[in-house]
Amino acid sequence: METEIIRIEQGREGFTEAEEEALLRAGRIIKEGGLVAFPTETVYGLGGDALNPGSSRKIYAAKGRPSDNPLIVHICRFKDIYAIARRVPEAAVKLAEAFWPGPLTMILPRSERVPLETTGGLDTVAVRLPSHPVARKLIECGGGYVAAPSANLSGKPSPTLAKYVIEDMEGRVEAIVDGGEVGIGLESTIVDLTVEPPQILRPGYVTKEKLERLLGQVDTDDPSMSPEGGGAPRAPGMKYRHYAPRGSLMVVEGTPERVAAYVNRQAAFQRAAGEKTGVIATEEMHGQYGADVIKYIGSRDDEESIARNLFAALREFDDENVTIIYSESFSSEGLGQAIMNRLLKAAGHQVIQV
Ligand code: AMP
Ligand code: MG
Repeated sequence: METEIIRIEQGREGFTEAEEEALLRAGRIIKEGGLVAFPTETVYGLGGDALNPGSSRKIYAAKGRPSDNPLIVHICRFKDIYAIARRVPEAAVKLAEAFWPGPLTMILPRSERVPLETTGGLDTVAVRLPSHPVARKLIECGGGYVAAPSANLSGKPSPTLAKYVIEDMEGRVEAIVDGGEVGIGLESTIVDLTVEPPQILRPGYVTKEKLERLLGQVDTDDPSMSPEGGGAPRAPGMKYRHYAPRGSLMVVEGTPERVAAYVNRQAAFQRAAGEKTGVIATEEMHGQYGADVIKYIGSRDDEESIARNLFAALREFDDENVTIIYSESFSSEGLGQAIMNRLLKAAGHQVIQV
C-alpha cells in the first residue's frame, strides 16, 4: 500500500486551504474504511472509523496488536458522547467540563452503535475528546467517531514524532498526517466511570490528585506498578508488554549518588563485555554518568519535559543500537506516576534498588 504523507504546519492559527483539503481527503479515507495516523496532544494516533468493525480489525492488523486490546473512541464534540455511551453519569459531565478537550479518557457503558471489534469484546467503551487542532479537524472530517490507539507497532514506544510513525506504519496505512512534535508525550489518563469509586486504569497527564478534587475518592488499578499485576487487569490492554526498546532496560532506584555509582560500575563492566550502554538521566545529574549514550530527558523540576522526551529517548536508543539501558527512577505522585508507569512497563519491571 502506498502511504500518503500529509504535512501540517504547527504553531499557527487555522489551516491553509491546501491543508484543509488534505484533511478533508484524510477524513474521507477514514469514512471509507481506511486508516490515517495523526497527531494528538498526547502521542500520535492510528485512526479508523470507530463504528465500522472492519476498520477496527484493520487497526489491529496494522499495529500487530491482539484484538482483545480495546481501542479508544475519539470524538470532536461533547454531545457525541451520547451516541456511543449507553449512559453518561454526572461524573463524566463534570470531568468533561474540567478536562475536555484534553488528555483524559473515560470508560462508560457501551452503546450498541459501537461494535465489539472496537471495544475488544467489552460492554464498555473508552471515549476521549482531544485538544489538538489537527486531531479535532480530522475526527470531524472522518465522521465524528475515530478509534485510535497509538500509531506504533505493538510493543514499541508510542510515537511522539511523525518520523517514528512513518518508520512503523509506512505501507500499512493509507495516510500519515505529520503535525510535528506532540505536546505531552504520554498517553491519556484512563478513568473507569462504570465502577464506584471511579478507578484510574492508566495514569497520565491528568493526575489522580486533579481527578479527586472533582470526584472525591478515586482508586488506582494499575497492575503495571506491581510486578505480579495484583490479579486480572480490568483493561485487557494492560496485560501486554509495552513501550519497550530493543535493548534491555533497567530502572535504578536510590539516592542520586548511589544510582550514579551503580550505573557507572555496571556500564563499565557491560562495555568490557561488548555491550553498548545507555543511560536515561535527568539534567540534575549532568556529567555524573559514564556510558556510551546518555540521554538527558529533562529536569526533575519540570516533569512535563521528562514526559515529553521519554518515548523519543527510548526510540533513539534503538536507532543507536544500544543494548543495555539504565534509567533513573521517578516519583509515584503527580505526573511522576505516569512517567514511572511507562518506564516500568518498558523495563518489563526490571528494577534494582541500590
Ligand atoms: P492505546 O490506544 O494504545 O492508548 O491504548 C488503549 C488502552 O485503553 C487499552 O490498552 C486499554 O488499556 C484501554 N481501554 C480502552 N477501552 C477500554 C475499555 N472499554 N475498558 C477498559 N480499558 C479500555
Ligand atoms: Mg499504545
